[in-house]
Amino acid sequence: MMNRQLFELIEIINDTEDLNNGGWRTEHPPVEIRLKTRPAAEGQQGSETLEQIATEIMACRACGLCESRKIPVPGAGVLRPAVMFIGEGPGAEEDKTGIPFIGKAGQYLDKWLAAIDLNRSENCFIGNIIKCRPPGNRDPHPDEITACRPFLIRQLNIIKPDIIITLGRFASQVICNSDEGIGRLRGKTHSYHGIPVVPTYHPSAVLRNSDLRGSVWNDLKRAKDLLNEIERNR
Ligand code: SF4
Repeated sequence: MMNRQLFELIEIINDTEDLNNGGWRTEHPPVEIRLKTRPAAEGQQGSETLEQIATEIMACRACGLCESRKIPVPGAGVLRPAVMFIGEGPGAEEDKTGIPFIGKAGQYLDKWLAAIDLNRSENCFIGNIIKCRPPGNRDPHPDEITACRPFLIRQLNIIKPDIIITLGRFASQVICNSDEGIGRLRGKTHSYHGIPVVPTYHPSAVLRNSDLRGSVWNDLKRAKDLLNEIERNR
């Protein structure tokens, strides 16, 4: 087990270095993403569906980000996933396509998923606290987070993940209902209405600062242990 974890850690580190050297995008084709949202009847009983929420998001003008966005990004994945990953907001690639986490950070996130036996098409849902791209990838403003938060809460009520992994400060603060920074929030398991929450750094931050890799690895191991425990108790 230790050898496997060590191997996976080396893989993650190597990928980070490839990305920092600008090599990964050319050596590895973009990950193919299959969007697979199950019909409403499988995950809920007579209430709203993810598709209805996505339709509202596509037409939303509740904050100023609607003026500069190209395409809102409601999120993608399966209902009742092992993990719902929640990031900050769409970047340039996501804004062009409407698909979450498909730029460099998203490709790096796919490596994290693989390291703990997850993949987007079978056992994950990936979303953001902000559905429209902030101009220039700036931090989301508090009023934008407040305006967009109800969509995420409604999505969570339908998606019902086994655990939540929050990526970065803003998502961690929203889901953990805390003002603390990510350095203080990560390293322990929180709870969102009974769902375990594992905060960790945003993949973009780790690509900028490789010193964060060890902390992320510890967070992923914590998440994997939680998933194993949930599976044992099912
Ligand atoms: S960021 Fe959220 S609240 Fe603001 S316009 Fe987009 S969907 Fe609406």
